[in-house]
Amino acid sequence: PFDVLVVGGGPAGATAAIYAARKGIRTGVVSERFGGQTLDTMGIENFASVPYTEGPKFAAELENHVRQYDVDIMNTQNATTLTPAATEQGLVEVELASGARLLSRSVIVSTGARWRSMNVPGETEYRNKGVTYCPHCDGPLFKGKRVAVVGGGNSGVEAAIDLAGIVSHVTLIEFDAELRADEVLQRKLRSLPNVEILLNAQTTEVVGDGAKVTGLTYAERTTETWHSVAVDGVFVQIGLLPNTEWLSGTVDLTPRGEIVIDDHGRTSAPGVFAAGDCTTAPFKQIIVAAGAGATAALGAFDHLIRTSTP
Ligand code: FAD
Repeated sequence: PFDVLVVGGGPAGATAAIYAARKGIRTGVVSERFGGQTLDTMGIENFASVPYTEGPKFAAELENHVRQYDVDIMNTQNATTLTPAATEQGLVEVELASGARLLSRSVIVSTGARWRSMNVPGETEYRNKGVTYCPHCDGPLFKGKRVAVVGGGNSGVEAAIDLAGIVSHVTLIEFDAELRADEVLQRKLRSLPNVEILLNAQTTEVVGDGAKVTGLTYAERTTETWHSVAVDGVFVQIGLLPNTEWLSGTVDLTPRGEIVIDDHGRTSAPGVFAAGDCTTAPFKQIIVAAGAGATAALGAFDHLIRTSTP
């Protein structure tokens, strides 16, 4: 069996594998796509010590770094079930879609998350050409320009407030008759001079000139009329879905599907740790996920020391 089996090869999982391998213990990483969300990213400019890199390059370097160590890397493998250990000292089992069963004294789940998309024409075509899901990452690209934020929950309203300080104008588009964000955020949003809020507005299409976004269209749901807004950027903020469906019933999840962890990265199941975007940790960012991966690996190592028989 492994001492540490990491499920997920994004920034969290790769960092966890490096930390575990450096302890000289048997380490494995199972992942569907090594690199995770960073594979879908263009420029990365907020990872300290790396002023600029690109997602696919960052992902390849993550994998190369892990390969410097004696780690069993199992790529393009999908984990389908996790069976917690029967006792504190027991083995955790992870089953793969291929039918293989892997046993480990500890498991670190770092299966990440995916952005909910609007599923409207133009959204996929203009992804990274004006359509974006990450205000912390891409906000500065729209300095002085006009943008739309789709979604009036906490993340959408926070994004609109954040962007209003960078861009020239923000149009916030909410499907419902009211915003769902916390009152204090709504008050802040309404106090900003360069923000317009559209309620009952259903985004119907992202429009562009072939190379980049030029605007979007929406349906006003009460009057059933169609309108368009000219913008250079569309920030989609309608939810981040954790990749944890395969864990239901085995470790505690929040109603939104995030794995509940403590400050050592421990989950509710003994020997099972978690890190990164699939957990309750706030702020879904590469550097935050990487740090959480280190925490979970050190947490797992601590667990192994305490449960190993002399
Ligand atoms: P992920 O990167 O999501 O990795 C999850 C891993 O788990 C992948 O290897 C995946 O294949 C694997 N996996 C999932 N399910 C299974 C399963 N059942 N079995 C096996 N493997 C599985 N952050 C920044 O800090 N700066 C940026 O500039 C930036 N730009 C971004 C741009 C885009 C377009 C996106 C989508 C995100 C961006 N982010 C950025 C956010 C950042 O990419 C994430 O916060 C980070 O990748 C999370 O790391 P993670 O390891 O937790 O999960």
